[in-house]
Amino acid sequence: MTNRTPGETSPRIDVFRFIEAGDTCSGEVPIARLERLLDRLPETVEPAEAGTLVWQVRGLRDSTGRSALEVAVEGVFPLVCQRCLRPLQWPIAQRTVVLVARTPEALVALDDEVEQEVILGSKAQEVLALVEDELLLSLPFAPKHETDCGVGA
Ligand SMILES: [Zn+2]
Repeated sequence: MTNRTPGETSPRIDVFRFIEAGDTCSGEVPIARLERLLDRLPETVEPAEAGTLVWQVRGLRDSTGRSALEVAVEGVFPLVCQRCLRPLQWPIAQRTVVLVARTPEALVALDDEVEQEVILGSKAQEVLALVEDELLLSLPFAPKHETDCGVGA
C-alpha cells in the first residue's frame, strides 16, 4: 500500500506496524520546511524558492531479519561552493537503510554491532524527521563545483 501525502502535512507512522506490514509512504517536501537544513542554503537563495524534494520511506526486514526503514530522497539542494562561494545546485539521490531498535537497550547493542545507522523506533515517528536526518548526513560539508567554477558563467 502506498500513501501519497501532500507536502503540507507531516505524517506520523507507527514504525513497528509499518515495518510489519512492509508499508511505503512517500511525498514531496519543500526545502523551506526542513528547518535543520536551512542554514546550508546560500544567503542569496530564499528558502521559499529553494525547491522541493521527493521522499519515500519503506518498511522492510534486512537480510538477517532485522527491522529496518529504507529512506530515499531525491532532488536538488542549493548549497554554497566552498571554492568560489557561489550557489551550487547539488543533486541528491540518497537511499539509506536504517535499522530500527525496539528499546534503548537494543539501540545501544545494535549500535555496537553494526556500522549502519540505528534509530529507536517510535509509535508516532514523524516521517519528515527521518528524511531530514538523512539529508543532514548526506549533504557534503565542503561542496565544490564539479569541474572549474565557471568564471563568467
Ligand atoms: Zn564554485
